[in-house]
Amino acid sequence: MEQIYTYGGYLKNKFGCKVYKVGINISGFTCPNIDGTVAKGGCTFCENDSFSASTDQVQELKGFHLNLNSTENPYLEKQLKQLEVQFNAISKRQAKEYGAEKFLVYFQSFTNTYAPFDTLKALYEKALSFDNVVGLSIGTRSDSITEETLEYLAKLNEDKEIWIEFGIQSVYDETLLKINRGHDAANVKEWIIKSKDAGLNVCGHLIFGLANETQEMMLETAKQAYEWGIDSVKYHPLYVVKRTALANEYNRGEFTPISEQEYLDVLMKSLLMKPKNVNVQRITAGLDDDSLLAPSWCRDKNIQVKNINSALKKIGLKY
Ligand code: SF4
Repeated sequence: MEQIYTYGGYLKNKFGCKVYKVGINISGFTCPNIDGTVAKGGCTFCENDSFSASTDQVQELKGFHLNLNSTENPYLEKQLKQLEVQFNAISKRQAKEYGAEKFLVYFQSFTNTYAPFDTLKALYEKALSFDNVVGLSIGTRSDSITEETLEYLAKLNEDKEIWIEFGIQSVYDETLLKINRGHDAANVKEWIIKSKDAGLNVCGHLIFGLANETQEMMLETAKQAYEWGIDSVKYHPLYVVKRTALANEYNRGEFTPISEQEYLDVLMKSLLMKPKNVNVQRITAGLDDDSLLAPSWCRDKNIQVKNINSALKKIGLKY
């Protein structure tokens, strides 16, 4: 049975110990697909409110949003403090519960390069100053990162481990239009290649089960993402969260979620096609609370993983 190359395995190999990602959510960050710069409402599957409702948002920053053209940020000190508080709480728990020894600070919610350069620089440098932090992972959109930021991250990457995570989702523009993504596939390709040329580590997020996509299309997305040179991949089934545009489509009978069998099938084929050097950072996704509308198989992560492992076994792999 061949072990799939995982992100955890990659980090362990590189740092010689357990390295955990510490997910951070900074108040004042938003997304150009939500604030009206590119579009309003966000991607059809994105429950924008969930980001701010689920973490310790700074009350004073309610309604305050940064963007690439913001000229000042009066709340930077508060954001730096928030970063420190979240990092300390989460890393402490990861050390205690899982034996984590080193950390990557993961700027996770919204678009984490969508703010003035000085703000980004201050936050990234603060994160890198914490004890046992070996690097950063920055979740963003390909239309929201500047050459200046990319160059700066490439410089940081000389001594630290810097990852950029781009939502690819699909390489089909008609699909990206349908999910109100706000950028096309050429834009993601361009910035992934630029990031790789700058020497950065890139993770690509893929979604299987987007409306009107055949299995052939999903596999073409995976194939192209691998060809663009991603180092790590996160595979997600598309599930429907309440209070989203996708939930409205689902309730009107206009969207049918991918079945577990279809997901397993496309996932196995994507894994078999995957170049050996690309590590797997996520193999599925789900939501175990009331906000999940469908499909129900995305509720229990343990059962999902069990079924994935059975499917993997049949093709001689294990996760
Ligand atoms: S890019 Fe991300 S944060 Fe922005 S709307 Fe889409 S899923 Fe939500």
